[in-house]
Formats: sequence, structure tokens, C-alpha cells
Amino acid sequence: MTHALRDQLVTTAKRMSALGLAPGTSGNVSVRTSTGFLVTPSGMPYDELVPADAVDVKADGTVRPGQNAPSTEWQLHRDILAARPDVQAIVHTHSLFCTTISTLRRPIPALHYMVVLAGSDEIPCAEYATFGSAQLALNAVSALHGGDACLLANHGMIALGTTLAKALRLAAEVETLAAQYWHAAQLGTPHVLPADELARVRARFAEYGQRRRRW
Ligand SMILES: [Zn+2]
Repeated sequence: MTHALRDQLVTTAKRMSALGLAPGTSGNVSVRTSTGFLVTPSGMPYDELVPADAVDVKADGTVRPGQNAPSTEWQLHRDILAARPDVQAIVHTHSLFCTTISTLRRPIPALHYMVVLAGSDEIPCAEYATFGSAQLALNAVSALHGGDACLLANHGMIALGTTLAKALRLAAEVETLAAQYWHAAQLGTPHVLPADELARVRARFAEYGQRRRRW
């Protein structure tokens, strides 16, 4: 079981990199285990990752000796997994458009109905804190507020999922929304869909269950 999860974790991290969502060695991925979580190691090139490189972190944050150093953002993953029992996997990226919008410290508004896939009416932006800090983890948990994605001020973004594949698909979708917002903002102020329209969109997605299942 753990080997299968290690394999899935590394596959997801390589896909994240191949999609251009994680420049260099930035970004990281985690998945819940029975004792804590597996997370990508710190500072290793994605194309060199193998399943044995995944770091097994216990729920209390301790790491079994002899493993690679975990991602510097391991607390971010631990705290979100602890706060959100409905979540099994987390993808964190420094993708271009999400990071660009995060420097403005503003949310991505509902300029497209696909925003509802993130479980909220907009993609919030967590308050700034130094990377790898306990405060950043607290700020992210607070900003998510039950939703499945948020920006991290002057840093990047986080997407959550019930599987690694779903977390990665949401990360790619949020990056698309950020790109659409950036492009629209070059020409003016985009119209934002109101809450009652987003409620209709959610109802439509629920009605066409097979559309949701593709997520
Ligand atoms: Zn980061």
C-alpha cells in the first residue's frame, strides 16, 4: 500500500513539473497515510525522483531516520491534513499566474464559473508568512476555510483533493483561472459572477453527476 502511494506521489509530482506548474525544484506534493503523510523531498529535481525518495512523515511531524529531508513546507501539509479530514492529497505550486496574482495579495474572483470546482465563490489569498514557517501553515488553513484551493501571498498556491490526481487537476484549473484573471485585467475590470449564479452552477454540476465524477 505504501509503495503504491509512493509511486502515485512521485508520478503526480512529475506531472506537476511537466505541466509547468512548478518551476525548478519549487512546489511539493503530499498524500495522507495511516500514520501521517508522504511528502516530496526537499530540493530534488522532479525528473530524478523515484518512489523511495518520498519522505514518510508521522502526524506529529517526526521523520523516520535515514530518509531524505522532507519538503521545507511539510508543516503546511501536516496542518492542512490535520484540519481537513475530508482531504487526502495536497499539491503546492509556484505556478506563474497564481504567483503573480498572489503578489497583489488579492483573491481570484469568480470571473469564470469553473471557480466553483475549488469549493468556494472565489480563490482566497492567505496572509503572507515566511516559507516553511508554522505561521504560513496557520494562515493557509485559515484562508482555505473549508474550500479546496487558495493563493499564498507573494509565494504561490495550494490545491486539495480526495486523491492526488484530483488535487493536481484542481491546481491546473486554478492556474488557468489565474491566467484568465491576469489577461482580463490587462483590458479592464472583469465582470464577476454573483453568488446566486454560482449556486446555479453548483446545482448544474450536481445534476450532471458524471461531470463531477470526471473530477
Ligand atoms: Zn512554496
